[in-house]
Amino acid sequence: MSSQSLTDGFGRQITYLRLSVTDRCDLRCGYCMSENMSFLPKRDLLNLEELEHLSAAFINRGVRKIRISGGEPLVRRDIMKLMGNLSKHLDSGDLDELTLTTNATQLSRYAGELKAMGVGRINISLDTLDDDKFAQLTRRRVLKTVLEGIEAAQNAGLKIKINVVALADFNRDEIPSMIEWAHKEGMDLTLIEVMPLGEVEEDRFDQYLPLTALRDELEQDWTLEPIDKNTGGPARYVRVRETGGVLGFITPLTNNFCAGCNRVRVTCTGQIYMCLGHMDCIDLRTALRGSDPETALNAALDIAMLRKPERHTFDIAGPGAMPAVERHMSVTGG
Ligand code: SAM
Ligand code: SF4
Repeated sequence: MSSQSLTDGFGRQITYLRLSVTDRCDLRCGYCMSENMSFLPKRDLLNLEELEHLSAAFINRGVRKIRISGGEPLVRRDIMKLMGNLSKHLDSGDLDELTLTTNATQLSRYAGELKAMGVGRINISLDTLDDDKFAQLTRRRVLKTVLEGIEAAQNAGLKIKINVVALADFNRDEIPSMIEWAHKEGMDLTLIEVMPLGEVEEDRFDQYLPLTALRDELEQDWTLEPIDKNTGGPARYVRVRETGGVLGFITPLTNNFCAGCNRVRVTCTGQIYMCLGHMDCIDLRTALRGSDPETALNAALDIAMLRKPERHTFDIAGPGAMPAVERHMSVTGG
């Protein structure tokens, strides 16, 4: 069995796996999904054993952090069993961090259990604190449930980062008060530029709010002090002196940080995407289901490393532009 680390053609070491466990979701955020998404048949999804097997293969090749995503990971029926089994790699010291990204609708049920199994912090996506706007954006009126989920996570002792997609036509005015709210509640908050992934009803150009402009606006009222908190990802962090909290900026469009990329993504059907901004992928499910999965998986991972591109190339060209990448974020896992 190969235990060589995963190093791509540009010398970047891959130590972070984002694993999607479902393409389904109980919300329909306008920038992520269309109202009528066709979801994959269940038989196409990796089963629990396959997800565990796959994760172990990555860990064996030097992955130290796994983020479970989706779709909405907490709507998958056997999710807690998966989390529990993956958490054994934390106990053994083979993994530094197991975490997840969630919309928080199911968190009230699961927060305590997640904390007990060794999950220390989670990312929660929330783009508005206004009940009507939340219902409009997600097409479901469940803000109250989400806030209860956040409270449950806080009570369980989970550290929380709120992810906010900055949308020009939707939440621009609300962003400062969301930052104040999150920081008052002891949570970090990260702003994300909307990415042209998959076709949705609205024009991406109308949604797009460059974070450079937003940052300038925030700096008129606040002092943003850069802090050294490099996660190997595209986020850059500051501390807001006036609130004392941490604010992140994920700026794939206005500022590209691909040079330090340390991650790959695997879909719920076992396709490894070496870059969020490219269509190229390699099928790991066939390797997993073959007669010699270890050898086949390691060979597939070696090929994946050779094919990881230097950088993404998406752009929001102008009104009416086609999506840069056809697949929705819910397929690859955010
Ligand atoms: N359902 C979970 C959630 O919402 O946190 C996990 C999956 S969701 C696809 C992961 C993240 O991707 C969320 O923070 C969401 O806001 C973000 N996202 C989805 N589509 C996006 C897009 N086109 N551009 C930027 N971020 C996007
Ligand atoms: Fe669901 Fe998350 Fe996409 Fe919203 S962003 S539709 S919660 S997968």
